[in-house]
Amino acid sequence: MTPEEVAALLAYVAELDPRTANATAAEAVAQLSRWCELLQDVPATAPDGWDAAATVRRHVAESPFPILAVDITRPWAAHRRSLLARHTDPRPAVDPDNVAAYQAAIRAQRQAVATGQAVPSSSRELTGGPHPSVAGQLGVGRALPAGAAEQLAPFRPVRAAREAAARAGHPDALTVACEWCRASAGEPCRRRTHRGTEQAGTWHRRKTPHPSRVEAAAIRPAEHAA
Ligand SMILES: [Zn+2]
Repeated sequence: MTPEEVAALLAYVAELDPRTANATAAEAVAQLSRWCELLQDVPATAPDGWDAAATVRRHVAESPFPILAVDITRPWAAHRRSLLARHTDPRPAVDPDNVAAYQAAIRAQRQAVATGQAVPSSSRELTGGPHPSVAGQLGVGRALPAGAAEQLAPFRPVRAAREAAARAGHPDALTVACEWCRASAGEPCRRRTHRGTEQAGTWHRRKTPHPSRVEAAAIRPAEHAA
């Protein structure tokens, strides 16, 4: 705030809370100097609803104590933190090969947000999801486009079996360990193989869990509920 803005704010304080009125001119000058020093980095207004006058009004309305400059600097510090938390350093219009200029531009953007002169810029292209025109084709909510999951199913048999079980409303057997083949929770069931050129005792992943494991997974939620 400029000294003029601080003086206007102090006049507003005196208007709302007559207790804060200074007895002498010397006191008023000392107070103005103190507030100017403390509020030099606090803007009068800033994006996202920061308003120093509103902060004064709220303090007078809610607190039994006469307002101090820190009653404005502390709320501003919190507001500033929330502004900076939403700022994601958008690419400045500066040649990225000019490192010094690029860094200076990034710093200037942050400084503008931190002093309430600029609105924080979040990466909408990352947070807003796909454009509506392509959302349908992508199959929003799925990790893979529609059709791709089906095409990949033969190469991801364990996952395909889990998804098929989920579609059929069956419990996810992989949430429990398998008593039969000793596969731990999260691991697919397995079997030993003795065929062909493979060494006896080689473990193979089974596409589907052992039936006893499916039963165990079905019982378990009931135990939790009991
Ligand atoms: Zn098993």
